[in-house]
Amino acid sequence: MMEGKLLISQMIERAEKLFPKKEVISRTSSGIHRFTYREIGERTRRLASALEKLGVERGDKVATLAWNDHRHLEAYFAVPGMGAVLHTINIRLSPEHILHIINHAEDKVLLVDPMFLPILEAIKDQIPTVRAFIMMTDDDPLPDTTLTPIYSYEELLLEASPNFEFVKDLDEHDPAGMCFTSATTGKPKGVVYSHRGITLHSFSLGLADTGGLSESDVCMPVVPMFHVNAWGLPFAATWFGTTQVMPGQAFTPELLAELITNEKVTITAGVPTIWLGLLKELDSNAEKYDMSSLRTILCGGSAAPMGMIRAFEEKHNIPFVHAYGMTETTPLVTLSRLKSYQEELASEEKLDIRAKQGCVVPGLEIKAINDEGEIEWNGEDMGELLVRGPWIADEYYKDERTVDAFKDGWLHTGDIVTIDEEGNIKITDRTKDLVKSGGEWISTIDLENALMAHDTVFEAAVVGVPHPEWQERPVAAVVLYPDTVVSKEELLEFLKPQFAKWWIPDDIIFMDELPKTSVGKFQKNALREQLQEHLV
Ligand code: ADP
Repeated sequence: MMEGKLLISQMIERAEKLFPKKEVISRTSSGIHRFTYREIGERTRRLASALEKLGVERGDKVATLAWNDHRHLEAYFAVPGMGAVLHTINIRLSPEHILHIINHAEDKVLLVDPMFLPILEAIKDQIPTVRAFIMMTDDDPLPDTTLTPIYSYEELLLEASPNFEFVKDLDEHDPAGMCFTSATTGKPKGVVYSHRGITLHSFSLGLADTGGLSESDVCMPVVPMFHVNAWGLPFAATWFGTTQVMPGQAFTPELLAELITNEKVTITAGVPTIWLGLLKELDSNAEKYDMSSLRTILCGGSAAPMGMIRAFEEKHNIPFVHAYGMTETTPLVTLSRLKSYQEELASEEKLDIRAKQGCVVPGLEIKAINDEGEIEWNGEDMGELLVRGPWIADEYYKDERTVDAFKDGWLHTGDIVTIDEEGNIKITDRTKDLVKSGGEWISTIDLENALMAHDTVFEAAVVGVPHPEWQERPVAAVVLYPDTVVSKEELLEFLKPQFAKWWIPDDIIFMDELPKTSVGKFQKNALREQLQEHLV
């Protein structure tokens, strides 16, 4: 067989050649823009040529501070297409973490959406490797800034060559992209993606039993392009000629529902908090929208509550697919679909399966281990999930924490799972979030899901709180739907029939809002800190 290098440039070249008329619909601060793949291809070549003129060389890091829009998409292809490395900065990290990752990656050029100028202006004297800033905007003249030297993205493109030839003498194992984890503890850890890894991962998104992404889809990644490359969807969608909808900055549930309605979105992807918001909007204003085009909501990043899956499917007739992955895994590892012979099961049983994180996708291998070795696939034994395969990182970028996570050729995910006889994994917790009560493990995710199935509970987070006798005990924090009332005792009574007695939380606290991480997950360490003394 031939070698056939797996390079990212082939994706945009294919889109230009085979799908020149298909569109990328992008929402920015100046409104909705429509570009064809022919235009996106040309603009991508111009961007690569402009970056070359600014002195970007092979292997250099070019960073972005941007939402999901067409310019960000162009950077996705221009930067790896010239042999450089695209570092998508998570704009929700703290300023110190942003400073740290720019310096750790040694970024040379920063592409920045004007709304993030203040973040960079505050640290501009402490990022010596950065030689130029490019403002991603239609505004002319550019907004005022103290950053220098500063260039206008659109002006650079006008002056650049539309005929830039993507670099082909790369190795497919060369770095193409880079993301940092959102760091719940310690500094963010860097993960470098290769051309080969991203390409193989894109294939997996197109498989019928995974994302099934195809040319006929209209794909709207809501997950930010700085969060594991919007789960790789912009790469795969461009390659396949899929119409893309980029929702831009500061979107609301109303805006997402409008985009789905107007652009006839067929597949969209994001974390559960986004979908809880959309669900609330549909529950109150369903008549304003038409969701009938939507064939899949892809949900991952944290556990999708079963009540939410049920509500989307039964109330709104929108198929909901639960998937699992992490920054280190590009990210897709497992995805939950019924097997053909499971279609006959009762609807509650089917929902039970689909609320799990699902089976490993073709191309990867998984197992789970605990102190006694590899766990049995019986749906009960718990162990830490290990993953390996061609789109799994094998180290953290220049970081000694590599030794803890990458051992014996496996990524140790830090996620505690059960695996059932059918091969479905179920995440019971992060290692650090499990409640260890009197030597036994309690899954906070199971308790949260059960609480969120109560009519009044909008969000719930459970954490282990130090306890004088049991070492730790679960305590739940809940946010109720507006205008609903429920007592702690009623919620505890609701949980009791569903769990062993010792799983029931020692307390339930009502809050207006739960602390969240930069990517919308419950920030359990903040909650744990707040509740340190709660049970002593
Ligand atoms: P970070 O670690 O920076 O929060 P990641 O997106 O890399 O960001 O997070 C990966 C982690 O998110 C996984 O290790 C797992 O704990 C959690 N996760 C991802 N998808 C799911 C899911 N479907 N259900 C439960 N947890 C999930």
